[in-house]
Amino acid sequence: MPNDHRKKGCQNTECEIFNKQKFDASYQFCPICGQELVFVCAKAKCYNQIEDTGIKHRICRSCEAKTKENENKVLDIGKKAGAGVAAVVVGVAGTIGKNIVKEGKSAAVKKGEKVVKAVAKEAVKMVIKK
Ligand SMILES: [Zn+2]
Ligand SMILES: [Zn+2]
Repeated sequence: MPNDHRKKGCQNTECEIFNKQKFDASYQFCPICGQELVFVCAKAKCYNQIEDTGIKHRICRSCEAKTKENENKVLDIGKKAGAGVAAVVVGVAGTIGKNIVKEGKSAAVKKGEKVVKAVAKEAVKMVIKK
């Protein structure tokens, strides 16, 4: 049996731990008021009731939506930041390239471009990690 990481909460609005405490899925009844516990959202500070549809369903719909929103935001920021960094690096590469061409070393330009591309990739990775 896989571990059940869902949380349960007491839905008795009169109970002193109502919307204050969560229990492991193995608990059946509230130790304070004795009412049967129901599955609630596993996210911190969220006590929305969730349906018992399987152990993978652990958070409520609104938290699920928020999580997805945040993931998309991070991706968006990463993409935008990545594009910005790439533009800057390409600009720098252009300058380096021109300087090398001035010196008449066309082979060195190709090498330089490769290095700059690698640097750009690393820069984008760093930005996305933040
Ligand atoms: Zn209770
Ligand atoms: Zn929730």
